[in-house]
Amino acid sequence: MPGEPQADCLFCKIVEGQIPATIVRESDTTVAFRDINPQAPTHVLVIPKVHYRDAAALAAAEPSIAADVLREAQTVADEEKLESYRIVFNTGAGAGQTVWHAHAHVLGGRGLAWPPG
Ligand code: IMP
Repeated sequence: MPGEPQADCLFCKIVEGQIPATIVRESDTTVAFRDINPQAPTHVLVIPKVHYRDAAALAAAEPSIAADVLREAQTVADEEKLESYRIVFNTGAGAGQTVWHAHAHVLGGRGLAWPPG
């Protein structure tokens, strides 16, 4: 069921503490942790505790939690003292999504080219 924990989902396991992660923030509805393969000096993922396959599914079903994810991403950027940064939701395999649990990337601490690759 959408929203329910998925036994085979890596990020659900991080939410449940079954897989270790370097957690930087947690709220009632979200967890933020450092990406295991950072693409910038700051690279934090913010995920909803509920399971939805991508940001579009989360926003459609739980717009308030989608807003929580965005607010937490903004707070991470503030706490990391990022002057310029990028908040990214890769959505779909063609956009580089590899983990099928909605997540925001917060990237900063270096110059970020535009357009992205
Ligand atoms: P996506 O490619 O947009 O789906 O992003 C998934 C991200 O999850 C990638 O940047 C991975 O490096 C990251 N990732 C995968 N496994 C772990 C983990 O166990 N801990 C933290 N980050 C992870």
